[in-house]
Amino acid sequence: MGQGRGKGQGQGMGPGRPERGTVDAVNECVCPDCGARQAPSQGTPCVQLRCRNCGALLRTVEG
Ligand SMILES: [Zn+2]
Repeated sequence: MGQGRGKGQGQGMGPGRPERGTVDAVNECVCPDCGARQAPSQGTPCVQLRCRNCGALLRTVEG
C-alpha cells in the first residue's frame, strides 16, 4: 500500500463559519475621549455608536 491519502481536500475549515457570541458579548460601550459610558444598542457594535457628550466613536468595554 503506497498511495492512499495524501494531498487532498478532505478536512479543512469551512468557507464561512459564522461565529457566535462576537457581538452579543458586548456589555457596555465607553467613550475613549471623555470616558462616558452607555449601553450599546441591540445588534449595533460600540464602534458604530457615538458619544452623547462629545460625539466621538465609542469603544467596547472589555472585562
Ligand atoms: Zn465622549
